[in-house]
Amino acid sequence: MRPVSFTANPTYQIPLNMRTNTQAIRSGLAANGINPVLGKTTYRTQRVLDLLQTLTFTNRGADNWSNLSQLNQGLVISLINYFSKNDNVNYGNARGSLIENYGQYCNYCGMPVQDSSLAVEHRLPKAEFPGLMLNYMNFFLACPMCNSYKGSKPTFTVCRSWAINRQGIPAPNMVEVGNGGYDRQVWPNRPAAYTGFTPILYNQTTDAQVPLQYALNINNDVVNTENNTVQAILPGYKNGQEVTVAVRFESVDALVQGLREDNFISIVNLNFTEADNYSDRRVTNRTVAWMNALLSMFRLSGFQPGSAEYDYMVNQILSTVQAAGYYSIWAYVFYQKSPPTVQNSVYTSFKTETADPTRPQFYFPGTNAANMP
Ligand SMILES: [Zn+2]
Repeated sequence: MRPVSFTANPTYQIPLNMRTNTQAIRSGLAANGINPVLGKTTYRTQRVLDLLQTLTFTNRGADNWSNLSQLNQGLVISLINYFSKNDNVNYGNARGSLIENYGQYCNYCGMPVQDSSLAVEHRLPKAEFPGLMLNYMNFFLACPMCNSYKGSKPTFTVCRSWAINRQGIPAPNMVEVGNGGYDRQVWPNRPAAYTGFTPILYNQTTDAQVPLQYALNINNDVVNTENNTVQAILPGYKNGQEVTVAVRFESVDALVQGLREDNFISIVNLNFTEADNYSDRRVTNRTVAWMNALLSMFRLSGFQPGSAEYDYMVNQILSTVQAAGYYSIWAYVFYQKSPPTVQNSVYTSFKTETADPTRPQFYFPGTNAANMP
């Protein structure tokens, strides 16, 4: 996780017009009073999206759009398909703008993804909120695992109940239902995206937290990562024997804010581990990042703070972080080992450089440094 900013100007905009020959769409739009603005096949995109919002509200979360007329069921399903696949009017066309703003990292787990598997993810899912399919404010970037766990959550029904429970609105309208969904969890653009979670090193065998003095020892050493788990030697812990460890995220707040944080963790199954499940490497790679952050602090400890060598080493570490991803892990370890209160603080360098677009070799695009301690 990483605090990101929505203030960057998106270069993506919803195309003014859409063209379609699909009969289910054309007849469905005609039945709802939406006619072509040009020829027989060109419509105003926003009008169609607005209609989808209205139909979503009318449906009230029923499965398969079963509260709608048969004509409108076909219309909604055809439009979801259209906005997913059409060459010119397709939410995937926002990927470039999102990468410019957020970088090539999953907005949920922090994994670097540098190809087309970095998906344009809908905060309020497209299967439940098709009217927001092209809305930039509804987009994040997600890795395949986070995207597939998140699936079609949160549902319309969940968002609506959240709007009722949290905001005291007995009969929320469509905008309020959407806001209910946005309000039900921490998102990467919320201040708590960084400060609302603590990464904690666990002994995976005993399920016990590793005491911080051992978890943050710069002499810790990864032995191997077989079976999609991390075996490490933590000097002084368990008589120096090899231990299977994993870094989990835990929410830090109580009550409603804590619930929002827990919802973030659960909606993408952020702490899921399974030996031999090599397709979900998020926890393993996050744990390796933790160990590498400590190793980098060990190497840095060989240099005099403030010396040229020290500065070179810090720069090298920041380049490594940018390539490795898992931003919040590095930030946490730096904060613990070299906090802002000391001279030549690695954390302060990290915070400064990751949010500085003039230093592209260290920069995590769109980082909102104001939300970091
Ligand atoms: Zn992810």
